[in-house]
Amino acid sequence: MSTRVAVVTGSNKGIGLAIVRALCKQFQGAVYITARDVGRGQEAAESLSSEGLKAMFHQLDINDPNSITAAAAYFKEKYGGVDVLVNNAGIAFKNADTTPFDVQAEVTLKTNYFATGDMLTHFLPLIKKGGRLVNVSSFVGSRTLNQCSPALQQRFRSEDITEEELSGLMQRFVDATKKGEHKQDGWPETAYGVSKTGLTVLSMIHARRLSKERPNDGILLNACCPGWVRTDMAGPKAPKSPDEGAVTPVYLALLPAGATAPHGKFVSDKEVQPW
Ligand code: NAP
Repeated sequence: MSTRVAVVTGSNKGIGLAIVRALCKQFQGAVYITARDVGRGQEAAESLSSEGLKAMFHQLDINDPNSITAAAAYFKEKYGGVDVLVNNAGIAFKNADTTPFDVQAEVTLKTNYFATGDMLTHFLPLIKKGGRLVNVSSFVGSRTLNQCSPALQQRFRSEDITEEELSGLMQRFVDATKKGEHKQDGWPETAYGVSKTGLTVLSMIHARRLSKERPNDGILLNACCPGWVRTDMAGPKAPKSPDEGAVTPVYLALLPAGATAPHGKFVSDKEVQPW
């Protein structure tokens, strides 16, 4: 049997690095830090090495389609696929940032929703039997869902929404912000929230597709919230340490062989949350 491998995006710092740290201790196989910047990624691998942990490194900028396909080809060639993928990379503008809202919407949706979607498109076919996929979303996405118009909420909760329809809705939000019409169109004033609503719904869509297209492969895919975590993104006042924030993503990444649930859920504090 080939070596098992776990890959974590955006793992040069913050929650991603803490997920790699925990996987180095608990996952039987190779664990990869991936980062868009080679220097920051290698430095993170060295920092774990000084803790006595061995993480590998591969460059991966989820906003760059060439970087995604190169990484996918690397894991296919070296390991015959991927056993665990944690889509953790994400961005958020600070509250005080004065970048116009429509620019924030476009940039935030590009990374958190569309680029994570590209990762799933290229890596899902590589996920081995018994594989685990974890998309790091946020409770902010659940709150945002409840602030959307009833019509949008109905689509985001429906079992028949497709990736194409969802991506169309995400693009509609971005386009509406450019005309200043997003509120009339039923969206709340949060680009980060909409991006994470989209990521959670996208996770549910891919989980349903996996159940249909690979029913015997035992793959589990879930979205989760790490909690409010002290990182560069959330600042020093958050209650959880990065290692505490890693607990739920790592729990989902290491669901035992033969488990059938959770799958296609939004999970926080290791519990399935209502959607
Ligand atoms: P962070 O410290 O800002 O780390 C974000 C990571 O994502 C960094 O490694 C960053 O790389 C990477 N990244 C950004 N864009 C990327 C791209 N295009 N390609 C590859 N990597 C990219 O934030 P964090 O708090 O650890 O957040 C991790 C995840 O948890 C995010 O998805 C976030 O939305 C989610 N989350 C966080 C909290 C919280 O309280 N912190 C709560 C809910 C959800 P660089 O160093 O190169 O920028």
